[in-house]
Formats: sequence, structure tokens, C-alpha cells
Amino acid sequence: METTWDDRLRQAGLRVTRPRLAVLDVLVERPHVDAETIATAARAVHPSISPQAVYGVLKALVGSGLARRIEPAGGPALYELRVGDNHHHLVCRECGRVADVDCVVGAAPCLAPSDAAGFVVDEAEVVFWGLCADCQVARRQHGYGTGTTSSSIRGGVRA
Ligand SMILES: [Zn+2]
Ligand SMILES: [Zn+2]
Ligand SMILES: [Zn+2]
Repeated sequence: METTWDDRLRQAGLRVTRPRLAVLDVLVERPHVDAETIATAARAVHPSISPQAVYGVLKALVGSGLARRIEPAGGPALYELRVGDNHHHLVCRECGRVADVDCVVGAAPCLAPSDAAGFVVDEAEVVFWGLCADCQVARRQHGYGTGTTSSSIRGGVRA
């Protein structure tokens, strides 16, 4: 039997409300979008839902573990429903596209600092930066040479 969003909201201790279901609908269709995009999409279907309500819903979903919030540097926070695994993200420097990438280790923290300086490390935030396939093509077509695709691992450690 398939678990519905109604069930999952209740299991997470949240009441089932129209704004919550509307936001979940948007996130099912479009992972890794910012709050503004979610609000616009949700309001296109249910105009009575205020942007403030959408922000409140996102906070509740993240707080209860139904959604995950990621914050690639230099951009707005993005939301997704893929939770519970330690997956990472590839982010395009040019267009901001985000793709999921499985963690090869699987559990956090998947990177160990060379010296933990006495910290108990529970997470390594890994973001791979580079150019997505479309932007590589666009670059070539616009004569920027073959591009300088680069990716780097930015490790942030929260203790
Ligand atoms: Zn791109
Ligand atoms: Zn993701
Ligand atoms: Zn990993």
C-alpha cells in the first residue's frame, strides 16, 4: 500500500492543510527550487495561498524532516523531498542547475577532516561546482573556447 502525503504529514506530527499539500505537490514535480519559485507555482494552482504561508510550510516540512533545505553559496536556499540519505549536489556555476549525486560513503560525515581539532564532526557539506552539459554546449557555441570546466569540493564542517 502506498503511503500518501496525508499519512506522511500526520506521521510527522503535522496537520494536513491545503498549503502543505500544495507545496509538496510542487516539490514532487520540481526538486531543488527556491521558496519564491515554490510560492509562485503553488499560488498558480491555489491563489488563496499567501507567500508567507508557503514560507511557513517550508519551515515546518524541513523541521519535521519531510523536506531538506540546501544552501549552495551565493544563491537562495533550495528545497527538496529527497531526505534521509546523505546525497550531495552538483551545482552549475553558470545557470545554477542542481543535480543530485549519491554519496559514495552513504552516511554522514563522509569526509574526515585531516585534523578535527577536538570537534565531534557529524556532517561534511559537499558541493561539486562546475558547468552543466547545456552550459558547456552554450559556451562552445558562443566561442568561449572549450570552457574551463572545473569542480571543487567545498567542505564545511558543523560540529
Ligand atoms: Zn548550467
Ligand atoms: Zn538533492
Ligand atoms: Zn559523501
